[in-house]
Amino acid sequence: MDDRKPVTIVGAGPGGLTAAITLAKAGYNAIVYEQNQSVGQRFNGDFQGLENWSDEEDSLQFLENIGLRVNFLCQSYKGNDGYFFGPKLKKIKVQTLRPLFYLIERGSGHHSLDQGLKAQAEEAGVKIRWGEKLESIPTGRAIVGTGPKAADAIAKGLIFKTSHKDVFVGYLDNRIAPKAYSYLLVNNGKATFATCMFEDFKNEKLYYEKALKILLKTVDIDIHEEKEFGGFVNFFNEPVISKDDRILYIGENAGFQDALWGFGIKYAMLSGYLAAQSIIDGTSYRKLYEQNMMSKFRTSLANRWLFAHLYNPGYSYILNQLTKMEDVIPPLRKHYNTSFSKKIIFKIAKRWYHSRLIDKQCMHEHCDCVWCRHGKHAHASEINY
Ligand SMILES: Cc1cc2nc3c(=O)[nH]c(=O)nc-3n(C[C@H](O)[C@H](O)[C@H](O)COP(=O)(O)OP(=O)(O)OC[C@H]3O[C@@H](n4cnc5c(N)ncnc54)[C@H](O)[C@@H]3O)c2cc1C
Repeated sequence: MDDRKPVTIVGAGPGGLTAAITLAKAGYNAIVYEQNQSVGQRFNGDFQGLENWSDEEDSLQFLENIGLRVNFLCQSYKGNDGYFFGPKLKKIKVQTLRPLFYLIERGSGHHSLDQGLKAQAEEAGVKIRWGEKLESIPTGRAIVGTGPKAADAIAKGLIFKTSHKDVFVGYLDNRIAPKAYSYLLVNNGKATFATCMFEDFKNEKLYYEKALKILLKTVDIDIHEEKEFGGFVNFFNEPVISKDDRILYIGENAGFQDALWGFGIKYAMLSGYLAAQSIIDGTSYRKLYEQNMMSKFRTSLANRWLFAHLYNPGYSYILNQLTKMEDVIPPLRKHYNTSFSKKIIFKIAKRWYHSRLIDKQCMHEHCDCVWCRHGKHAHASEINY
């Protein structure tokens, strides 16, 4: 008989697993429900980046601070380990004094972030119930981290093998990545190339084909054993924090995302950690969100508005400015964090931005369904986020 206090966690993504690890280490009976048979099924073995520019503390320190260790592929890339191209295809190098990001792998592969977190969860005593899709939480405390529910931005890409050396390449050009960017990440003979879009999704294939042509024109890279993949993320202009303080929402399910560029992993982990802490300490999750996440979250929406109004000449200008800097991280960090002007722009951005969330899954009344975050009769598509 387990006499530890039970907490239900829905979803074994970075958010859910971080919450579960934190709770289990504090002596709770953390039970994770995951609809798939293993972690990372949403992903494809593609490389992603744990960004290292938005906080003063290094991202490795961030992981340590929230009680996680690095037992997964996590390789640092500094500014001079790669380059950028603007719309005129001029090659641009930037300098950083510390890693710009840490490359990680997503999916169910041996070295993925997802497998690493799963191993840490199991070591901490978390029980994971695989293949169980939870649609309602009738009683007890729960944390819901079920990932995105709508495509507010999409990515289409390719994973492949290559003999190219480790590198990152970023592209800013609305002709291949409308209001977003394309990227190449190469690590140890494996590569991910993708183009992201914030609008005009119906021409996804066209943008992807053009982006691939630009890749082959700008980087001398061999491609073997290629496999296409796609994905999406969602953004809300205000997160959905909790329902009756009993069910807490975390990660992309709550709308936590970097609205500027979609770097949502740290948001997912931090919100998972804070939700767990609020259960452990009895502090309000909303208060923890306001103290630790709100200003950066809001600034990211302000930045999205600014970025969406830059267009190609603006991208060229910014990239040229970045080449002149000794270290691009401090100015990037300044832009990622709040200021008086960003607070004003946030107000404009909040009115301008609308999530595409139309939740077709919920048709219940009086329900505790994980999608019914606003209780009785509220339908997600009717909620003014
Ligand atoms: C192509 C692509 C590239 C990206 N690149 C980056 C990047 O470079 N850097 C970055 O920081 N972020 C990146 N992101 C975003 C990042 O991956 C997400 O923000 C992050 O994974 C969100 O974590 P999460 O825990 O909220 O949700 P998820 O990772 O989506 O996990 C949710 C889990 O819940 C499970 N689930 C869903 N519903 C139920 C249910 N009802 N019952 C049980 N289980 C359920 C799912 O199967 C899944 O395992 C990228 C996203 C995409 C699509």
